[in-house]
Amino acid sequence: MAKVYLVGAGPGAPDLLTLRAARLLESADVVLHDALVHPETLALAKRARLVNVGKRYGKVSTEQRFIHRALVEAARKHAVVVRLKGGDPMLFGRAQEELDALAAEGIEAEVVPGVTAALAAAATLRTSLTRRGVARTVAFLTPRVGRGETASEWLPAAMAADSVALYMAAGAAASIAGALIDAGKPADTPVALVEDATLAGEVRTFTTLAALRVVALPPASGPVVMLVGEVLRESARAAGHPDSASLRSA
Ligand code: SAH
Repeated sequence: MAKVYLVGAGPGAPDLLTLRAARLLESADVVLHDALVHPETLALAKRARLVNVGKRYGKVSTEQRFIHRALVEAARKHAVVVRLKGGDPMLFGRAQEELDALAAEGIEAEVVPGVTAALAAAATLRTSLTRRGVARTVAFLTPRVGRGETASEWLPAAMAADSVALYMAAGAAASIAGALIDAGKPADTPVALVEDATLAGEVRTFTTLAALRVVALPPASGPVVMLVGEVLRESARAAGHPDSASLRSA
């Protein structure tokens, strides 16, 4: 009986993969993967046919229903089908739609978690998103909505959380910063933007909500995760962020 595995590839560095994911890749017949999976990770799938079904913002993307069809067809022909997704497959990865499509065809599925971008970025910054007395809540959110969807109610969630990790947000960073300030987040709240977290070309930028609102970010070539919260203050200071001298001492 065929089985489809929704597998997390981790944030970027190929050795941030679970052993379970590595073993499944080794035994896979077909791997349908996202665009940004590291070549060394794909190389583990020695016997598999590799199919890139990746979506990248602004680039030609594979329609979700095509991915569903490809998964179902692969499961009809092969025993071990791996659907390899960046980070953790269950966070902003349309995993539920794929699981539902497989269930509708009576195809067995299993999920293998992976390291999500926000936690990889927190690791790289050596900054815990939770901290005794400072941060007990973390929100993982995206302000991005798909075509035909209603606007996401991300702002109340961001306001309610001590630390906020924003996915697919860098392109709208200035308006997000403005919305957070207007809703009452202190303008000097530290922000870290991490591009290509855990990869050789990783770029870390520290700023504040106030600065982000008015200073345009340099264009990014890789994915960017945005972290917002008081927990980042020390890291920003240590990195010599120019605003850190005037940052509010908590
Ligand atoms: N399932 C993935 C998220 C997919 S949404 C996960 O768990 O990480 C795509 C968004 O993830 C990007 O827009 C970016 O915000 C973030 N992202 C993915 N990989 C990243 C990386 N290596 N560095 C920084 N951000 C990353």
